[in-house]
Amino acid sequence: MTDLSSAQSESADEFMREAALLLGPRGLTSDPERMDAWLTDWRGRYTGRACALASPASTAEVAALVRLCAQHRIPIVPQGGNSGMAGGATPDDSGTAIILSLRRMNAIRAVSADAGQAVCEAGVVLQTLHEAAEAKGMRFALTLGGKGSATIGGLIATNAGGTQVLRHGTMRAQVLGLEAVLADGSVLDLMTPLKKDNRGFDLKQLLIGSEGTLGIVTAACLKLLPAPAGRVTAWVGLGGIVEARTLLRQIERAMGEALEGFEVVPAHCLDAVLAHQPAARAPLGQSHEWNALIECVSPSSDNAMLRETLEAALAAALDDGLIADAVIAANDTQAEAFWALRDGISAAERALGPAMQHDISVPVERMPEFILAAIPALESAFPGTRAIAFGHLGDGNVHFHVIAPASAVRGAWEEAQGKTISAQVYDLVTAWGGSISAEHGIGQMKVAELARLHDPAALAVMAAVKRALDPDNLLNPGKLLPGPSASHSGP
Ligand code: FAD
Repeated sequence: MTDLSSAQSESADEFMREAALLLGPRGLTSDPERMDAWLTDWRGRYTGRACALASPASTAEVAALVRLCAQHRIPIVPQGGNSGMAGGATPDDSGTAIILSLRRMNAIRAVSADAGQAVCEAGVVLQTLHEAAEAKGMRFALTLGGKGSATIGGLIATNAGGTQVLRHGTMRAQVLGLEAVLADGSVLDLMTPLKKDNRGFDLKQLLIGSEGTLGIVTAACLKLLPAPAGRVTAWVGLGGIVEARTLLRQIERAMGEALEGFEVVPAHCLDAVLAHQPAARAPLGQSHEWNALIECVSPSSDNAMLRETLEAALAAALDDGLIADAVIAANDTQAEAFWALRDGISAAERALGPAMQHDISVPVERMPEFILAAIPALESAFPGTRAIAFGHLGDGNVHFHVIAPASAVRGAWEEAQGKTISAQVYDLVTAWGGSISAEHGIGQMKVAELARLHDPAALAVMAAVKRALDPDNLLNPGKLLPGPSASHSGP
């Protein structure tokens, strides 16, 4: 036993010596102060330990480092902006893994308006890509609240969504080509963007959404679209969530491809944001039981036509008694103010006290009935709580929060009730044919629930793929699939 652990420790020391030679002082540190910020996840729920923070500067360095890790059996936790919501980028508390940060690989190699493509390294921050595309009159059509931190590699690894999925899809629809380093250090080069390619399995899609468990994304070729010239944003007051779905279908018919966003905000959330942001104003002057935020864009700068079409659709909905009131933003500033209300919900809810948050989806058609069934079910099972749902109705994806009773103490309440509440939410979602993770991935947060509720055949295929590509379980162990290790965590 002693011999084994001293051999392990010698091997770890040897790994550190070789890694230092490979990456140099900028590329490797084991200084606790320099590592500290990267050992806790964005939400502050998980904290781990690592033997080093490695920051390679090129695909060749990533490949050499991964080969070294394979040789010395050093687990690897890939990390981009560390803004993920499921603890996927946080190491366990054994201190045996390295964090492999892609942040130094932040070059945008090309932006081509003609080809409608950008070629980026994995560490490019989403907002930086937006700006580079805009400078060429183009647009990368995926955005989300964490755009100032989230990297292309992290967005690919989590198959991120955001507020334009309704029209443009998740990362799966944006990635035209991809480069990744596999567990043995080989480089998978799928960068050539082919519109048609039937050479067997789509390995690019296998890597997307694999949360760093099958390979390390080092670069990607991404789809760009011409920047929209016109934009019309509306805030609508409705009596109910069923009406919101009917309105969604009517607006889809009226606006066609112009419709990009359809978000729902219940009165409770709007009131919370208004209380949290003293300068904010309710767009309709009063709170409605449900509100919808609708955004349409067009390639033409003739905003008048887009606006008229949306106005006509909303007027018809008003005549039908489907909606109570509506306002169309007069300019970009007002449109941004509407979005600030939507984007401010998480912070406002957090300020109100503890809550269990769930990022779930069910088929779009069933979402209103799901919400109407799930809210009272949770509130009666856990007296004193309040359940709310808001977000991407157009994608069949809402954030379903169960808010603690007013007297609850943060930390203690989640510890005591969190797992039971989440299990009940996920049981309901599964019974309604939905997913326990619509956008944020599984990370370490939902490993047990995925194992409990996902189709056994699907789990077996996932485990077989993992074994085939990473037989020593060195790539992000304990994340996504059941396996050894979990960091010191909250609920
Ligand atoms: P990290 O957090 O560093 O890592 C996330 C996962 O990807 C980990 O498992 C990690 O190991 C892995 N990983 C990271 N880089 C690589 C790589 N190069 N190769 C292989 N694996 C890698 N998400 C949505 O889908 N929709 C939203 O609307 C949304 N809103 C958000 C709002 C806010 C304010 C924030 C903070 C986040 C939001 N997110 C949303 C979460 C978003 O998915 C993540 O922020 C993003 O996808 C993760 O990118 P990252 O670079 O920070 O990755």
